Amino acid sequence: MSQLDPVPCFIGGRAAPLGAAFEKHDPATGRPAALVAEADEAVVDAAVAAARGALRGPWGRTTLDQRLAFLETLAAHMEANLPAIVAQEIADTGKPVTVTTNVEIPRAIANLRAFAQIARAERQETFETPVAGGRARNTVLRHRVGVIGIVAPWNLPLLLLTWKVAPALACGNAIVVKPSEHSPRTAVMLARMASACGLPDGVLNVVHGHGAGAAGAFLVSHPGVDAITFTGETRTGEAIMRAAAAGPRPVSLELGGKNPALIFADSDVEAAVAGTARSMFDNCGQVCLTTERVFVQRPIFERFAAGLVAAAAALRPGDPRAPQTTLGPAISAVQREKVLGLYARAKADGAQVLAGGGALDMPAPFADGYWVAPTLWAGLPDDAEICRREVFGPCAHLSVFDEEDEVVARANGSEFGLAATVWSADPARVERVAAGLESGTVWANCWRVRDERAPFGGFKRSGIGREGGARSLDFYSELKTVCVFEPAA
Ligand code: NAD
Repeated sequence: MSQLDPVPCFIGGRAAPLGAAFEKHDPATGRPAALVAEADEAVVDAAVAAARGALRGPWGRTTLDQRLAFLETLAAHMEANLPAIVAQEIADTGKPVTVTTNVEIPRAIANLRAFAQIARAERQETFETPVAGGRARNTVLRHRVGVIGIVAPWNLPLLLLTWKVAPALACGNAIVVKPSEHSPRTAVMLARMASACGLPDGVLNVVHGHGAGAAGAFLVSHPGVDAITFTGETRTGEAIMRAAAAGPRPVSLELGGKNPALIFADSDVEAAVAGTARSMFDNCGQVCLTTERVFVQRPIFERFAAGLVAAAAALRPGDPRAPQTTLGPAISAVQREKVLGLYARAKADGAQVLAGGGALDMPAPFADGYWVAPTLWAGLPDDAEICRREVFGPCAHLSVFDEEDEVVARANGSEFGLAATVWSADPARVERVAAGLESGTVWANCWRVRDERAPFGGFKRSGIGREGGARSLDFYSELKTVCVFEPAA
């Protein structure tokens, strides 16, 4: 036990005593690697109290400029400590070092700077109303909400955390974060670094533990939490919304997806293969924006499918810390079993397996890690389980289509609507198809190009509300209209 890394909660500006704890395993090896605090109700209560106390202290009197300067200081501090952050994120998730170093942690840091810029660039709304004897001037002000409860997932731990922490701090709130039990380390690191950069004690608190019936549920049902933002599975989102009804408190829900890619015969097929492969296999398919349904126009189906099979074969699973590795493991034994169960049922349903289809045999020391094979299927109808349920693994089902209207309708035939990708060289087609898709984001001839100023969120069961740019500032602040009568001169 003693050689396991302890991962404590962080409350009121310092690490809390570890207390009750659970073992967290290294996904690449399957071995126990960390001992993570399991916060009980008293610990969550202490974290919420610390956050509320911080609002009454100096943090509650900071100006917008001071808070934005802090975000920029924190970003610079994180940049200077990038290798240490990368090491912790890999230890939790088994992500390949190259993408963690070059994409994920830099983007986590970029969120801090982006929201500083977004908040700084905002123009205050004012409205003048003529009234008898003068005029009324309406000014729209932002006021912090209070204590924000953040419940985060494991797939992009720090990136999705700073996506919420940055605008919440910009707006002057205090925060209690419950990171995923599978990826606790970088949240504590963020809180420690924020403290080192001068964030007052209690502004950013971290409680660890499980979700249902545990720390996650304690946090979202705590009456001292004023608003809740959640990223994770749709079913968990339902439970969180029920908890938020007490109050009621505002919620922002970023949930699951079953994202389609529509590949037209007029597209640049090589680029479409490369982009679609990335959208299926990046982060072992554990991205909410990942493509799991691929619709290919008939004339190019065979060529496109062969390209994807080759891309799957070219992936290099292995030591997450080796620069040549391009495929990491699933996050946990439970997630691996879920993915393999869906793989087995797709086969039992009659899918033609074009690539993979099962576990991935790895040499020592990775033999007991949570590896799953990149997998491609074809031949199933749109209502088959594998074409409807989110797998959250490195896999997709490929179908043939003929007509534009047909493929838009089939792409929309899902209970989810988070992201969709269109590959076509015809701008008019791209415009028509994008207009018809029921999806929070539509990418055309690219994938996962993100601009923090643009709204982000899902249609249907993929979420409620939008974050990004001014929408994030709207969630993390109350808008206040101040109406002042000015008599005519
Ligand atoms: P999850 O819902 O299992 O867990 C997310 C978090 O919720 C964890 O911290 C967990 O402990 C907590 N939790 C679980 N039950 C809870 C409860 N009853 N009350 C309070 N907290 C609870 O999700 P996950 O497996 O960590 O993440 C994968 C899912 O997240 C996928 O469905 C994926 O599509 C989705 N996701 C969505 C987005 C998006 O922006 N839309 C981004 C990333 C991931």
